[in-house]
Amino acid sequence: MATDKMEIEQDIVTPLLLWYESHKRVLPWREDKNPYRIWVSEIMLQQTRVEAVKPYFDRFIKELPDVSHLAAAKEERLLKLWEGLGYYNRVRNMQKAAEIIVEAYGGMFPKEYEALIKLPGIGDYTAGAISSISFNESVPAVDGNVLRILSRLLLYEEDVLSLKAKKEAKEALKPLMPESRPGDFNQALMELGATVCVPNGAPHCDECPWKKMCLAHKEDCWQDYPKKSAKKPRKIEEKTVLIIGDGERILLHKRPSKGLLAGMYELPSIDGCADETAIVEEVRRLGLSPLRILQSGEAKHIFSHKEWHMKGYGVLVEPVELETGIFNGRGKDYIMVSPKETKQDYPIPSAFFAFTQYLDIKPGMGKEIVKK
Ligand code: SF4
Repeated sequence: MATDKMEIEQDIVTPLLLWYESHKRVLPWREDKNPYRIWVSEIMLQQTRVEAVKPYFDRFIKELPDVSHLAAAKEERLLKLWEGLGYYNRVRNMQKAAEIIVEAYGGMFPKEYEALIKLPGIGDYTAGAISSISFNESVPAVDGNVLRILSRLLLYEEDVLSLKAKKEAKEALKPLMPESRPGDFNQALMELGATVCVPNGAPHCDECPWKKMCLAHKEDCWQDYPKKSAKKPRKIEEKTVLIIGDGERILLHKRPSKGLLAGMYELPSIDGCADETAIVEEVRRLGLSPLRILQSGEAKHIFSHKEWHMKGYGVLVEPVELETGIFNGRGKDYIMVSPKETKQDYPIPSAFFAFTQYLDIKPGMGKEIVKK
């Protein structure tokens, strides 16, 4: 790799920035350097592909256009806007950070990396991205894309998921960052990783501005990099998911305010693979009278540390008399609402999306249950 300032400029920085100028994708959060928009997009992109993020980003910005709106948003609305993106603590942390920005900074984003990284949910990468893109600070933003590129470029032998690798990547990038365009430099690297030095399948080395100095390209060994130590296998949990409805409304359960999918509304479930007898018993335990039962598909949902393997059953129950949606059969954590309200107003974890097509359970569907 080039070492003196002029060589760095000629061999590394200029080719990358020229490539970025002509290849960067038009993305809604790149329209300006507004730190709020950059922040929202970066948090959303931590878990989801660019194309999938676009509609979420547009909807979120339309409804919560700045930090003050985010700080004041109701929790359920916030979770609804995030529904499908997963990792709901990220949006809760965003709200906590927004509250601090409003209270301590008068609604203006702090400009320095050091101040940004102290905000809830803003880590090293996001602080680097915001401070460099919006405020021209020379701070590298090292994510998985950047680590992949560097590991191939230099045939880096350490585990790229280690703290050491991140630290060394930051140290290697710091002297390369052009003072006048640190934000473009970071974005160019992210773009290169997302579109050329791709995570799945062969990198498009012929299009890469760093092809000449890349050791993986020279030695044709890109598939051996980045090095990653084996992850612990995810725990598998079986679940029987119940779509319980009376023909007009379905039963939802509000999850506890702490832990996995905190505060979200889910379809009730039974741990393990329950048979029809156990399901009918559970529905009666909830204070409802089951009439018919219907097998309603299977689904798998992968979290970072566990997998849910789910089997769904629709259960039609006798009409429930309700003045409001509150269902008192089994405590305040259960409500009965129409499928339309469920889709519009209640944040449902994406783990249950495979079953939402069965929400419209109607009289006459499924196998009859013998009354007790
Ligand atoms: S030359 Fe190929 S392997 Fe090397 S950084 Fe570029 S895309 Fe990645």
